[in-house]
Amino acid sequence: MKTLKQTVWEAREKKVAVGHFNISNLEALWGIFRAAQSLNVPVIIGVSEGERDFVGVKLVANAVKSIREEFDYPIYLNADHTYSFDRVKEAIDAGFDSVIVDGAKLSFEENVKLTKQCVDYARASGREVLVEAELGYIGQSSKVLDEIPEGVMLDESSLTDPVKAKEFVELTGVDMLAPAVGNFHGMLRGGVDPKLNIERVKQVAESTGIPLVLHGGSGNSEDDFKQAIANGINIVHINTEIRLAFRDAVKKALQENPDEVAPYKFLKPGMLAVQEVVEKKLRFFNNL
Ligand SMILES: [Zn+2]
Repeated sequence: MKTLKQTVWEAREKKVAVGHFNISNLEALWGIFRAAQSLNVPVIIGVSEGERDFVGVKLVANAVKSIREEFDYPIYLNADHTYSFDRVKEAIDAGFDSVIVDGAKLSFEENVKLTKQCVDYARASGREVLVEAELGYIGQSSKVLDEIPEGVMLDESSLTDPVKAKEFVELTGVDMLAPAVGNFHGMLRGGVDPKLNIERVKQVAESTGIPLVLHGGSGNSEDDFKQAIANGINIVHINTEIRLAFRDAVKKALQENPDEVAPYKFLKPGMLAVQEVVEKKLRFFNNL
């Protein structure tokens, strides 16, 4: 079985991206796994701090491990946006394959300090745990938005600076970096998000020499994805779009069968809806 590090670096060589999808329930986990399995591509399951609190840190670690072993399948688990050392430590101790240290709102120095502390802990864990850092603010919530989140600036000078990014990677020894390149968390209501700055993706990928991660992928156009992946993005995060698909499918199932009380019956359409969205995304990210 390939490690996550091998998987991501292989994606870098092939100029494709590994899909990262968030869950807070078993239906989404199965939907995502089935989609990946049907295409025979690796996949990363993400859980934010809030999602971890709901599902249980150890339970989700064991659930993903259980699928990996039962199906002998490259499915990995990532601690999505984590804001403190204690919660990074908790995820590493529970057996996660990677963690995201989110110091994007901190000063450059504070971000370096927190990230370095987490990298040191990961290296001392005795397992191969990847650490991703965030440089540049892209908002925090995965929902449908009426406008671009407060604090997110899309002008060139607010995007991640390639020289600063290189310095950051050298100071922290981080494995992967999530830059601000015109992306933001969540998606705009009814439409397509503003275009990504592909030139900046390319510059940051070249200056840092490590795989880059695109957050807030929900709402971006296929052309944007294609170019971003061709220029250094090796993991793409999708959350809002699968939340929406799940919610709508379950709502419809309950409206059509108001007397149904078996959760495995009224939640199944939710699982299938997640599977459908994920399959579509994975085809695209993997050039299939
Ligand atoms: Zn994110």
